[in-house]
Amino acid sequence: MTHLTARPGILKIAPYKQGASEVDGITSPIKLSSNESPLGPSPRAIAAYEKAAAELFRYPDGSQHNLIAAIAGRFDLPESKLICGNGSDELIQMLIRAYVGPEDEIIISEQAFAMCRVHALAQGATVVTAPEPDLVADVDQILALLTSRTRMVALASPNNPAGRYLTKTELHRLHENLPENILLLVDSAYADYVEAEDYDPGLMLANTTKNVVMTRTFSKLYGLSALRIGWALCHESIIDILQRIRTPFNTNAPALAAAEQAILDVAYETTVRAHNTVWLEKLSATLTDLGIEVIPSVANFILMRFPNDPAKNAESAWRFLLSKGIIPRPVGAGGPANCLRVTIGLDSENEAVIAALSEFMKR
Ligand SMILES: *Cc1c(COP(=O)(O)O)cnc(C)c1O
Repeated sequence: MTHLTARPGILKIAPYKQGASEVDGITSPIKLSSNESPLGPSPRAIAAYEKAAAELFRYPDGSQHNLIAAIAGRFDLPESKLICGNGSDELIQMLIRAYVGPEDEIIISEQAFAMCRVHALAQGATVVTAPEPDLVADVDQILALLTSRTRMVALASPNNPAGRYLTKTELHRLHENLPENILLLVDSAYADYVEAEDYDPGLMLANTTKNVVMTRTFSKLYGLSALRIGWALCHESIIDILQRIRTPFNTNAPALAAAEQAILDVAYETTVRAHNTVWLEKLSATLTDLGIEVIPSVANFILMRFPNDPAKNAESAWRFLLSKGIIPRPVGAGGPANCLRVTIGLDSENEAVIAALSEFMKR
């Protein structure tokens, strides 16, 4: 008797685990597990979202025109090279579906977005992981893995969970050494936070070459995670391919309206970035003083490596923080060992993290 089976590759996928949001016995825990913006979206974005409620019976604008025009204006880009997705996740999925098949290899840098692997395995493709020995995408490691079957290279910069970035020089060196028939995905979900001079989100490469895609999201700095909206920049020939497989109404009307206002509200964006920059520095310095190794992050989260002492390791710290009502993100198997990731929160939330970890380290 034959029975129902999924396509090869699907069973290699471990189901996604969302950052925890509840702690037993605590009514309103401090959720620092999913890199959400503690300041929330721009008031202009919320107003646009509320206004969209009156038009819920209508289909959204399938052309995504107003949001694309706003992004093009904000970053001085041609509208013809932009496309929006149901989160940047959907755009990454579409790219992998379009360019990577069962006979192909995709090189995924170790700390790229976890969903890259899921989408590639669903295609039946071979996933080749490029190590990040210094907790940042490593160009030589990636180049060493190229074969005649490689169709795509995916990395995140800043990466996750370390929050480290590839320098402009290194990103360009990677691109220069990639054959033109290989697609380079630069996932720049955290680009909006980065203030480092030698950082390059891949914008120029995506705007001027034929094989680079930069993806961005409204889920992080813009505080619109719930609406699922992101965008990509790439050559028109790639846009043409993506438009063929995009479902006409992949981005919903409230999301399009809110994201448009979010990107136009530069003053609010600046405030959010400034809050992050101040706390990134302050939290990193304070935690270091406590004897915790802090990986230097440029994003809106910090990766902490704990001492090996079982009383002070990441596992103990995780349980201790939870007991104080603080939810960090444990780093899964295969990730940097003995680490926890915490998102930069509100002033009071960051103070609570400092207080809890001071107590923990001094026990
Ligand atoms: C959060 C995140 C994204 C964004 O996902 P969305 O689907 O746009 O919400 C992409 N890449 C990385 C590395 C992330 O952490």
